[in-house]
Amino acid sequence: MRKPTLAIAVAAGLAALTAAAAEAAEVNVYSYRQPFLVEPLFKAFTDRTGIEVNVVFAKKGLIERLKSEGAASPADLVFTVDIGRLHDAAKAGVVEPVRTDALAANIPASLRDPDGNWYGLTTRARLFFVSKDRVPEGGIETYEQLTDPEWKGRICTRSGKHVYMVALTASMIAHHGKEKAEAWLAGLKANLARRPQGNDRAQVKAIHAGQCDISIGNHYYFQKMLDDPKQKPWADSVRVVFPNQDGRGAHVNVSGASLVKGAPNRANAIALLEFLSSTEGQGIYARVNGEYPVSAGVGGPETLAAFKADTLSLARVAELRGEAVRMADRVDYDG
Ligand code: FE
Repeated sequence: MRKPTLAIAVAAGLAALTAAAAEAAEVNVYSYRQPFLVEPLFKAFTDRTGIEVNVVFAKKGLIERLKSEGAASPADLVFTVDIGRLHDAAKAGVVEPVRTDALAANIPASLRDPDGNWYGLTTRARLFFVSKDRVPEGGIETYEQLTDPEWKGRICTRSGKHVYMVALTASMIAHHGKEKAEAWLAGLKANLARRPQGNDRAQVKAIHAGQCDISIGNHYYFQKMLDDPKQKPWADSVRVVFPNQDGRGAHVNVSGASLVKGAPNRANAIALLEFLSSTEGQGIYARVNGEYPVSAGVGGPETLAAFKADTLSLARVAELRGEAVRMADRVDYDG
């Protein structure tokens, strides 16, 4: 084998410099998150670093796109919501692990992958919307109480196989074991006012219409409904209840991001991730989208109180998702 000549070494050095220079310019993001949520953050990052952020927005198909582009993909980071989707991207083999001291310091361990495949950047609580008229203050306080006989025919939820519901069921499995969790899901199903249908907001609409008295939904829909003239009456008809505040805390999920495998602008991508996890980035993120920051010491949305969040590892929730989906089938949750 020949030793590398000086010329080759210099060429390699130049290539590295060229790569660094190219990296100084930009970072490419594939985002399932809507432009209004992330653009203010990316602008702040560009103002601070001079690194341009190019974004491809899509409602679906980004993981398939990353798969088909393979090593030729220009993407550096992928942004999505829900532990289910973050986990699916990792399983699809389109992301690569990254770990830095800043990310570990800024993001609680329960909200990031121990292997570094995904990082939670905001949290969302899965809480109860309850009828102001028909559910007394303190009438329901825990996920476990959803199966109480007094709520028979009075609860509305979306499909038990939607990612938001799957993560909640997975958290019940983690806390109570498979058997008790299945009895819980069957008990919840038995208390439903109607077949699961529609999204989180549709359940609140149903409460407003008198079809049910309690629904399960993500916290940020409360503000979204208040901001929409047609939906404001729905929101006005309910109270928000953060479950399990005297115990383990409310189930939370995340929006987050992963480094794309073979990211061409790796250093810039990591810089952006670290910025989003910083006090400055977290403050902007929470203000713009009404979610809760992942980092302690940064305030949450103005319209909702601070609350106690379950610290169960979302990596554990991800592991139990398959079981949660099978459980929804076994109890015929959507039937
Ligand atoms: Fe949502």
